[in-house]
Amino acid sequence: MDLRLNHLPTNRSDQANHVKMIILGSGPAGLSAALYAARANLEPIVLTGMELGGQVSLTNTVENYPGFPEGVGGQDLVDLFQKQAERFGAHIEFDTATEVDLSERPFWIKTYNSEYLADTLVIATGAQSTQLNVPGEKELTGRGVSYCATCDGWFFKEKDVIVVGGGDSSLEESLFLTRYARTITIIHRRDSLRAGAILQQRAFNHPKIKFIWDSIITEIAGENAVEKVKIKNVRTDEESEIVTDGVFIFIGHIPNTQIFAGSLELDERGYVKTGQRHTTNVPGVYIAGEAGDPDYRQVVTSAGMGAAAAMEAIRFLEKSEEHQPAPIKS
Ligand code: NAP
Repeated sequence: MDLRLNHLPTNRSDQANHVKMIILGSGPAGLSAALYAARANLEPIVLTGMELGGQVSLTNTVENYPGFPEGVGGQDLVDLFQKQAERFGAHIEFDTATEVDLSERPFWIKTYNSEYLADTLVIATGAQSTQLNVPGEKELTGRGVSYCATCDGWFFKEKDVIVVGGGDSSLEESLFLTRYARTITIIHRRDSLRAGAILQQRAFNHPKIKFIWDSIITEIAGENAVEKVKIKNVRTDEESEIVTDGVFIFIGHIPNTQIFAGSLELDERGYVKTGQRHTTNVPGVYIAGEAGDPDYRQVVTSAGMGAAAAMEAIRFLEKSEEHQPAPIKS
């Protein structure tokens, strides 16, 4: 990947709305940053992106966010984050950044509906599902191929589905699918899972879930909807077909950082290169959550990073000559 650093042409107009802080993304990282910035009286603007709440809003139940011993719905948690940030003066805009110019401050952000100049920027744009990139996948997405069990599981009542991947997401989503599907066959490319022990135990014990090991999908086929997959055993090269109604793919994520290529340093996988204090290579631009975090990828870690990135941005503004925000309320 091109790591940068040719400056983008500046298309700044004089119509831009000048604000103290823009937060890109409305997942746990973005909304936590918004809460902290709002409590410092910065009146941050949160540009939600295409998915208000980010990936967690598509999660049925979050069981490992502290403070909710019985678990909490992903969408419910996002609603609470949003309400709390708005209570202190964050502005949530249902809009998406399409272009940025970070070559000088204030930073310029163009969106579908507007243009902003921002003294600081917190990037919390998150990540999206990786695709298998096999024949039939693209054509049958939404017609049996899915990346979200919470969104699409309902359509597979009493059907047979395949799940791809051996991580936490794959098992968590498979367990969710047991509410609807008749059978869930997890296809994993190795013979051991990456997922945590508790999820493994639940999946192994579930009567609807079975596993096919050491295998990959080579094609997804169907006329108007998914009908079958072709699979290959990677140890023996043996090929076979499985009749199925759906294919759910959970094989990791790619960060939503495309609009920063050329403006920020990205690593070879596209994650924003992150300094110790949530900094990027551009002073005044901070990073939080999965756009810069290939490792932890938890609601609680993203929320923590959002709070920390906002605190750093607040300090940056305090040090800069243009602005002296009120201290953070405790
Ligand atoms: P992940 O841990 O990266 O697992 C991805 C899985 O997909 C791996 O088993 C990988 O196989 C497989 N895979 C990758 N590329 C593939 C390909 N091209 N073809 C076939 N299989 C492929 O991703 P994740 O499950 O989305 O989890 C991401 C992070 O979020 C993790 O840190 C996880 O702990 C966290 N998470 C936590 C929870 C929870 O705590 N409840 C829930 C969801 C996610 P290999 O194993 O062979 O690499």
